[in-house]
Amino acid sequence: MEVKEKAKIVITVASLVAVTVLIVTEYRRRRRYRRKQTSPLSSCYLHSEVRPQFGFKRVLADNSYSEFKHLKLDDASSSSEEASNCHHPYESEITVLLENTQIEFGFLRGECSLEMSDSYVWVETESQLKELAEVLAKEKVFAVDTEQHSLRSFLGFTALVQISTHEEDFLVDTIALHDAMSILRPVFSDPNICKVFHGADNDVLWLQRDFHIYVVNMFDTAKACEVLSKPQRSLAYLLEAVCGVATNKLLQREDWRQRPLSKEMVQYARTDAHYLLYIADALTAELKQLATEDSSSPDDKFHFLLEASRRSNMTCLQLYTKETEDFPGSAAASSIIYRHLNGHGDTSTISLNAEELVRKLCAWRDLMARIHDESTRYVLPDQAVVALACKQPTTAEEIYGAIAHTDLATESSPSLNSSVQSPYPVICSHLDDIYQMILNKLAKLDDILPLVLKKCLGKNGTCPISVFNYSLLLNFKTKLSSHSAPKQNGHKNFKQFTRKASRELFVKKFSCKAPVYHNCRIYANDGRLLCYCDKRKLEWYLNRGLAKLVEEDPPAIMLLFEPKGRPEDEGNDFYIQTKRNICVGCGEGKHYLRYRIIPSCYRVHFPEHLKSHRSHDIVLLCVDCHEVAHAAAERYKKQIATEFGIPLFVRRVLDSKEAQGTSSLMEDESTVNSEDAGVSPLLLRSAAMALLRHGNRMPSSRREELLQIVKMYYGGRDISEDDLERALLIGLSPHERRKRERKKGVSLKHSAEVARLDKQENGNKDKNNDDEAPADSEKIMNVERSTVADDSGDGGTSEGDGATELNDAQCNGNMLHQQNSKLSLLGHGPHGKQIVEYLLREYGEDGVRDFCQRWRKVFVDAVHPRHLPGGWNVSHRV
Ligand code: AMP
Ligand code: MN
Ligand code: ZN
Repeated sequence: MEVKEKAKIVITVASLVAVTVLIVTEYRRRRRYRRKQTSPLSSCYLHSEVRPQFGFKRVLADNSYSEFKHLKLDDASSSSEEASNCHHPYESEITVLLENTQIEFGFLRGECSLEMSDSYVWVETESQLKELAEVLAKEKVFAVDTEQHSLRSFLGFTALVQISTHEEDFLVDTIALHDAMSILRPVFSDPNICKVFHGADNDVLWLQRDFHIYVVNMFDTAKACEVLSKPQRSLAYLLEAVCGVATNKLLQREDWRQRPLSKEMVQYARTDAHYLLYIADALTAELKQLATEDSSSPDDKFHFLLEASRRSNMTCLQLYTKETEDFPGSAAASSIIYRHLNGHGDTSTISLNAEELVRKLCAWRDLMARIHDESTRYVLPDQAVVALACKQPTTAEEIYGAIAHTDLATESSPSLNSSVQSPYPVICSHLDDIYQMILNKLAKLDDILPLVLKKCLGKNGTCPISVFNYSLLLNFKTKLSSHSAPKQNGHKNFKQFTRKASRELFVKKFSCKAPVYHNCRIYANDGRLLCYCDKRKLEWYLNRGLAKLVEEDPPAIMLLFEPKGRPEDEGNDFYIQTKRNICVGCGEGKHYLRYRIIPSCYRVHFPEHLKSHRSHDIVLLCVDCHEVAHAAAERYKKQIATEFGIPLFVRRVLDSKEAQGTSSLMEDESTVNSEDAGVSPLLLRSAAMALLRHGNRMPSSRREELLQIVKMYYGGRDISEDDLERALLIGLSPHERRKRERKKGVSLKHSAEVARLDKQENGNKDKNNDDEAPADSEKIMNVERSTVADDSGDGGTSEGDGATELNDAQCNGNMLHQQNSKLSLLGHGPHGKQIVEYLLREYGEDGVRDFCQRWRKVFVDAVHPRHLPGGWNVSHRV
């Protein structure tokens, strides 16, 4: 009875536990699922917005809290970096101008005309910009004005530069040419060319900030007005008074990012620069006039022209700096509190709570503006901060209601508003943060920012990474750590931040921007469409007189001979599918890489006729799908290694001399396990390298560790220096080995190791290695788009499309570290060759074909591609 009772209890408890476990697991699973489903990846408004500045490849002033770095000339005098950053790079040239007493501005006289022709030059390509630079280099003087955009940018950026010579007006599209503007650097810093501005203070700084352009030798017509004590100093006044031209200055607040510029904007922009030469001419005449009139004390007479010139060139000496404050948003917060809260009488009631909220909102606003590259007023104008701090709304409706009346409309031009759907997109897509700040009153300011940054830009963050916010991740910690105690897990989070940032930069650097498939068409001589292809392929046929051009745009050719195979012969319609420039996995169209479904380490060893030269096994993948596919392929390689008993890495051998070629490597079947059967070539080589270079100097424990690695390769025996030298050659292609020899100046040709390795690589001669051997370090170091067809000589059937393709090494290593030549060692030594030889020996060519199908299946199972071309299938046969 008692026993039964006990058993009952035990069973009851056990089942309770089981049920609880089940419920908890299910709950967790659901939560995980929900989290995945509501993945915030697309929640930020920026994911569906095109920002012109996100096309900039390089920005000199990013949105991080780090200081602006000025241009450093390779000048011996600037010794330390610190010193050069607070010195103007052209300080000495400008000083010479400031001390010059011989300034005449004679070049201005007489040549100026008031006319403004109908034509102007729109400069938007690099070659046009170079032409402009050549034109300007021949001038003695030219006029400059700039327009910047500041609402939808954190620091603002120059959207247009207007340059006028006596002959022409140039409008430089500095958005399109952002990364090329350094072409104009020399003419701007040339002390022999005078640049005429009006009110240059901002322009000088903006040119430094965006392009590292420094103005040397300037005449500022506003400074001339100052010296002449004109009643007004505005350009509008001068245009009216000197030129009799009316201008509508309201246009200066237009959205200068817009393209094409409206007629009015073009007219306005030209006007701002066009008349400056005429005005400068008139004003210098007046200045000289004054000097002669004022003849009371001829010796130390006040030289008006010199003074105007001196004041102008003083402007050039200014240096751009990023604004800094003790804590993000603190200056704005203090100002808001002063103006809106304390200032309005009843200080005691709202103050503390509201004040704290104002500080939080301003800090948040500052960070959000930096992350999204928006102005703080675009994120949340001051009035909206005040409204939120006073009303402390707690629902979405209340929040929207509170800020609804503090519309941007009051601050920006009508044309801007029409393009903005919601007044505060940053608030809308990050509403959660506002709740948190209002509800969680205890949260400290110092804690909020790292969390927000992580949420936005960390792993799976909500917002896109850009050249503007990327380094926010890098120096954010240092910025905050000066104010708050370091967090325990700060470092981990920090690492997570930078991982995503790295990926984004990687995408920028390596993925293809230009379309890979050009969608040109090839027709048979009976007019039937044969296939789509790229331009190069068309040209290949045309240049050889094998085809004639039948259509221009998009181009199409007709073959003048009867092609061997027809699409219908292949039993599928693959060849007449338009290949789209998207990731075949997910459809991503913005970035993609070429991916080989059959890993190169095998494919290079296929007999020539089995290497598919058609594009079936080369597909475009976005970086994410590429990662998935590659990881699956790496796993499958291991599986293959186990299945065939051919390890991925160099196997443990007793002595290199005993390891004569392929067969002996495969003898020891009992311990075959791809994972721990040996040491990877990379590990072996880097260990040997370290020992050779620093052996005596490194700590003995580390030395022992490295020795163990090398010993593992040599079967545990003692290692000589010779052994280390030989270990350096493991995993290299013959080509690489020869290169190494040349570099060292020592021929290792006769060593047993080299002989053995050469023998192993036999049949895989130079041609292959130079073309596509995965361990060719030259290729690895140089991942620029190769325009060389990888399967050359086959009559244009290759996809010589110039798309980037990563090799094994780049994929295996941390992608960020592609510069590191060591990665080239991550190729799998003889594994690929041995597998292919085995397949051919055992199953003949069908073995290779089946092998290809297995890889296609691996690819499909891993990526679940939804955008493969129509005729693509796993069982496709070469
Ligand atoms: P300007 O010196 O008149 O050519 O103006 C150059 C740039 O300064 C313009 O493109 C605007 O970005 C900015 N700017 C000048 N004045 C204003 C203003 N009153 N409001 C807004 N932006 C201005
Ligand atoms: Mn202007
Ligand atoms: Zn966002």
